[in-house]
Amino acid sequence: MSSFVDLFEGYSWTDVKASIYSKTAVDVQSALGAEKCTLEDFMALVSPAAAPFLEHMAQKSRDLTLKRFGKVIQMYVPLYLSNECNNICTYCGFSYDNKVKRKTLNAIEIMQEVARIKEMGYDHVLLVTGEHNLKVDVAYFKSVLQLIRPHFAHIAMEVQPLEQQDYEVLKPFGLNTVLVYQETYHKEDYKKHHPKGKKSNFNYRLETPDRIGAAGIHKIGLGVLIGLEDWRTDAFFTALHLTYLEKQYWQSKYSISFPRLRPFSGGLEPKVEMSDTELVQLICAYRIFNEELELSISTRESEHFRNNILKLGITSMSAGSKTNPGGYVVDPQSLEQFEISDERSSAEVAAMIRSQGYEPVWKDWDNCLML
Ligand code: SF4
Repeated sequence: MSSFVDLFEGYSWTDVKASIYSKTAVDVQSALGAEKCTLEDFMALVSPAAAPFLEHMAQKSRDLTLKRFGKVIQMYVPLYLSNECNNICTYCGFSYDNKVKRKTLNAIEIMQEVARIKEMGYDHVLLVTGEHNLKVDVAYFKSVLQLIRPHFAHIAMEVQPLEQQDYEVLKPFGLNTVLVYQETYHKEDYKKHHPKGKKSNFNYRLETPDRIGAAGIHKIGLGVLIGLEDWRTDAFFTALHLTYLEKQYWQSKYSISFPRLRPFSGGLEPKVEMSDTELVQLICAYRIFNEELELSISTRESEHFRNNILKLGITSMSAGSKTNPGGYVVDPQSLEQFEISDERSSAEVAAMIRSQGYEPVWKDWDNCLML
């Protein structure tokens, strides 16, 4: 079966980067005036040449988002099930070489966490685990889905990459969405940040959205970890990946997230700093490039930033999040995967959303709509 790897290997990181940095104000104006944005236009929108056009980009992004999504923000919350992990990732608190207490929630503990999440108002949950083939395997995911399905209208998962048949097994148990972040599309630097474990196989990870799409999963989430490499070039490759997937697996919906490297115990300093203004530019560029795309912002970002980005293209937000297994009730003191920046409760974030004239929606869709 062909995959995105075949297309990806026809591109050179160095050439793409040079092309982005050579874009001019004329290229940006042309992208902003285009009826349908191309990948060349997207390069212009994420280039340094677009910085003086940020207000224009923000206005266009806001208008397109209002037209397609209305004044609605979908609310979701992560439920960390396990911090067991076989991989070494240089930027993560759960890395195999970090000497932390490991924990995988059992059924009773999961239901304690679910009860708290339901009290917070959520009907849409994102299940998160480290990547451990034995302790958090397909059988575990299946049992968790069976356990929690009656309590949520939408279940998303961000766990180890699986085989197509594994996604097919999990789908009937209520798996609606799978997120898999490439972290960086810079193949050589990817190796430096993932020296051990299954995650060190760059191509296997790169092909994961193909396997998710082929399994017919409703929504696929993409993204990179901003700070590992040049964010403009990584954004281009994400957009290329998205464009390929939308053609190949047109029945699925797509979302993009923008995680910026956050501090954690023993953590890595970002190689490339991205300013708040540049993050706004990136969010607006994606919206102008693709009107249908869901754009998500997590509690990694500050209260101030999240308040201000709300109207500029974002369609979903987490709030009140904990990034440690058992973090809501069972074991609040355990080590977090990364530090939260916006520490407001879900009720406080919902009030902020309403104060801006938008409506927080606690679920994505209803399971009764599944065919
Ligand atoms: S990023 Fe994921 S795979 Fe890497 S160490 Fe953390 S939990 Fe494990």
